[in-house]
Amino acid sequence: MVLLDGKKTANDIKEEIALEVSSLIENGQKKPHLAAILVGNDGASETYIHAKVKACHKVGFESTLIRLDNSVSESELLSEIKKINNNSDINGLIVQLPLPDHIDEMKITQAINPQKDVDGFHPENIGRMVLNIPTYLPATPAGILELLQRYNVVTSGKHCVVIGRSHIVGSPISILMARNTNVGNCTVTLTHSRTENLKEITKTADILIVALGKAEFVTEDMIKDGVCIIDVGITRVKSTVTKSGWKLLGDVSFEEVKDRCSFITPVPGGVGPMTIAMLLKNTLKSAKKMIY
Ligand code: NAP
Repeated sequence: MVLLDGKKTANDIKEEIALEVSSLIENGQKKPHLAAILVGNDGASETYIHAKVKACHKVGFESTLIRLDNSVSESELLSEIKKINNNSDINGLIVQLPLPDHIDEMKITQAINPQKDVDGFHPENIGRMVLNIPTYLPATPAGILELLQRYNVVTSGKHCVVIGRSHIVGSPISILMARNTNVGNCTVTLTHSRTENLKEITKTADILIVALGKAEFVTEDMIKDGVCIIDVGITRVKSTVTKSGWKLLGDVSFEEVKDRCSFITPVPGGVGPMTIAMLLKNTLKSAKKMIY
């Protein structure tokens, strides 16, 4: 079994980005600049946003964090987005999800200028992804592709089963794995909570991508020998062993399945760090005007 080490790979990518930033600056250009909007103070969102800001500093990007109170109105949030859309010093904008219930997430996603949409969630960028036109790919699916590519996992002709059909992970990765591209050319089955005989389907997977948010859902009896497993899930559970009092679990029972896999991502240290690295890569692409 080969461990798909997202932490190491993400660090390699960050080093590559840092080198590119140095050469941009040497050529008299500005540092890439990412703006992030955080609404409220949800613990998990705080952790994610701080990891993103820290990663910006590590590669030499400028970053701006805009914090808004949980009670901010939708129109106030929209006007913050408009300001950033019009600020030519800022290359990328992300709005940390989830948002409070009184704010329409889709409306917010659509308000971001597609040229600055480094999360790759805007319908225009999703459309470009489907049509295989250069775009900002959503960061988590892009991180999965990058891991598969850097570890030379063969995808062409393979059966890829995806569990979960969210807009940010399951649906886009199923499209990307089926595209006629270097990592791709899979025969894809997209499964969800209404899927019948899930176990029969997952047992036929050469590549199994799991993104449903249920800790240790995939067990040994659901896979075949030699499968490559990408575990996207992150669930925080209480722990009496760790100092912090909690630990992270993936959607796959890692210890149960690992010896039967050809490749597998750990949690933590698999897809999570790759997501942040891809966000940085998209911001660099925006600064270099590689997409639009
Ligand atoms: P989500 O929006 O919570 O959707 C979950 C999906 O799983 C839905 O499509 C749902 O089906 C499906 N599902 C639920 N129960 C199922 C079952 N028993 N059998 C088959 N399918 C089932 O998903 P998400 O936002 O993609 O998040 C999934 C997990 O990935 C979470 O743990 C999240 O924290 C993690 N995540 C990690 C990263 C990272 O960077 N590593 C990034 C994003 C998300 P229906 O559509 O039928 O309801």
